[in-house]
Amino acid sequence: MLSYRHSFHAGNFADVLKHVVLVEILQHLLKKDKPFTYIDTHAGAGLYALDSAVANKVQEYKTGIALIDEQQFPELASYFSVIHDLNAKQLTRYPGSPVIAEHFLRSQDHAWLHELHPADFKTLHKHFANDARFVVKQRDGYTGLLSLLPPPSRRGVVLIDPSYEIKNEYNQVIDAVIKSHKKFATGTYAIWYPVVQRARIRQMERRLAASGIKNIQKFELAVQADADEYGMTATGIWVINPPWSLFDKMQLVLPKLKSCLAQEQAAFYQCEVLVAE
Ligand code: SAM
Repeated sequence: MLSYRHSFHAGNFADVLKHVVLVEILQHLLKKDKPFTYIDTHAGAGLYALDSAVANKVQEYKTGIALIDEQQFPELASYFSVIHDLNAKQLTRYPGSPVIAEHFLRSQDHAWLHELHPADFKTLHKHFANDARFVVKQRDGYTGLLSLLPPPSRRGVVLIDPSYEIKNEYNQVIDAVIKSHKKFATGTYAIWYPVVQRARIRQMERRLAASGIKNIQKFELAVQADADEYGMTATGIWVINPPWSLFDKMQLVLPKLKSCLAQEQAAFYQCEVLVAE
């Protein structure tokens, strides 16, 4: 039984980091006319109302998107173009990864979205009902991913963004990445993680680094120091086969995100090559 609903968390500091990286990857794929494929293993509902009763209960976006703007981050103009498109004056809507992809995909590109939660699937399916570029499936994202690789376009990005509700999911993510990479070694993979217990992330990272997969970068933003109490103190994303421009962009952006989004003095960031090319 899935209890996680992304509507409580939309626009928080973790979404900001993840979506900034996703936009950079999509921008890179747009540089060639050749079609590409976007695969989202855990798509969520697609679009979120920040003034809804659910979002208002926790107001997590106030720890993320509400604290930054394009004036402070001119280098993130493409990311902010999606936000501005959805919000005329006030910030009332935040795009999930599928709606970010929708903004950038061209007529020749294709997207596959997986979402298991019945209500979120329904919302997502309705949003893309008339868009022939998008296929929306209510099925397990890990199984769906393997069945789609390699994509006919032989160019693409896979976003793996689970809710980590099940303990075993930390292992399942790395298993899925290793299997997927065997079928589609040239694809770009963006794997999101929350730091709730640092030991779990260290273990995932050790497995990923020892997997034999080359060219992996890591971008992490910690808004608080690691802690033993329950709660996400940091968030990160590993990118396999990143665009050549991503590392420099994140070196510029991460210190600024840290200053804007830090919740305590001990906040920090990491921008690292985990495995060289
Ligand atoms: N990628 C979205 C974004 O950036 O806007 C957010 C996704 S949210 C963190 C994770 C989603 O995965 C939830 O909506 C949850 O219902 C869904 N989910 C959980 N397990 C799944 C699975 N095995 N396959 C597909 N979807 C799953």
